[in-house]
Amino acid sequence: MRGEEPTVVEALKARALPEGSYDHLLEFLRLYRDAVQSVVDRIWSINKKLSWKKLHRLFYSDLVGRGLRAHHAKEIYVYAESLVDSARSNGGRKPVLRRLSARIDKYDYGLDLDNMVLTLKLHSDYEAKLKLVTSRERIEKYRGWSNYEIVVKYEDNEFWVSVYFRRIVKTIKPKSVMAIDLNFDNVTIAIFTLNGRLTKLKRFKTPHRKILTYKIWIERIQRRYPKSWRFIKGVRKAIKRHGKKIKNISWDYSHKIGDLIAELALKYHSVVVLEDLDELRENNKKDKRFNKKLGLWFYRRIQFCIEYEARERNLEVVKINPRGTSSKCPRCIGKLVEYGHRVLRCRECGFIGDRDVTATLNLYRKYVFKHSRCGAPGVAPNAPKPDENPSGMRGNQDEAMPTSSYMNSYES
Ligand SMILES: [Zn+2]
Repeated sequence: MRGEEPTVVEALKARALPEGSYDHLLEFLRLYRDAVQSVVDRIWSINKKLSWKKLHRLFYSDLVGRGLRAHHAKEIYVYAESLVDSARSNGGRKPVLRRLSARIDKYDYGLDLDNMVLTLKLHSDYEAKLKLVTSRERIEKYRGWSNYEIVVKYEDNEFWVSVYFRRIVKTIKPKSVMAIDLNFDNVTIAIFTLNGRLTKLKRFKTPHRKILTYKIWIERIQRRYPKSWRFIKGVRKAIKRHGKKIKNISWDYSHKIGDLIAELALKYHSVVVLEDLDELRENNKKDKRFNKKLGLWFYRRIQFCIEYEARERNLEVVKINPRGTSSKCPRCIGKLVEYGHRVLRCRECGFIGDRDVTATLNLYRKYVFKHSRCGAPGVAPNAPKPDENPSGMRGNQDEAMPTSSYMNSYES
């Protein structure tokens, strides 16, 4: 992973107003869609994956013969193949395209940020100009980024454009490591110095319980009216209202916590270490920390915001396989067993630690192991002992306390 330049990609989506007649633009979108469909049909019948070279040989001259430009042709066969690929891997049917939508390469459009005007190069040397309907501030953000691809859509008599922007992130050289553990009740963050000293510990409550309450309410209503809830206006509306509350609570929380954590990571020049939730799904379906009723979507949303805000501040973000982070001893990798409420104890070396803090210690340990250049596990983290107050911490409400008093923060 090291040495690779991380990039950030963002899409600016905006409505677009055509300047003058848009007959040719519509004609182009139809031509484009039909071209994608014909390539999809052919690839589907061939029934094996084709290289770009092969695709080019098979389709290029036909597509250019229809009046499309060279880069249109390439976008079309690459897109067609990705459609077939995903349909096949889902065991689905042959894709049938109805919508008018085209992906256009950077060589076939010009974007004038000052005037917010997009010029598209269409088939048979036609051109179309579109004025983007959006605020200047939204556009200004992308000055200095590189744009590489756009998608133009025609939907309900309106044109929509998504412009994809990319920038290389020059990450700040880390001076510390921030490990983040997510679970049902808390988000726990721990900051370690590069030689393994725990210098800051903070814990934030999550609104998981509140969300779960709304979810249970919805399910109860749906069970009570299993067939009819969709058709009774009042019931349907109430369900929708509760769904909206879940959505608002989860996004509000994620944005706030993402901003807060990234700000803290910036202050400490931390590399941000998160659990790789995809790995979790694969290798640890019965992880106790996660509530089955809710699944992982809220964790993903929180992580998304943390990662986004951290990258915005040019901080490095690393994801670590969470296997064993809540079952192995951070000091000796021995097996941990329950030792009272949310506390774990190591059978081998006697380590005792709060469950969440233990998880961050393990994330730190795994990060160091993965990223130490010589391959040796770096300095062992100073796992806080039950009676020890990790240095640099003060006892305010949010701030975590030494292990013995961690439990108190759960009672509130
Ligand atoms: Zn141990």
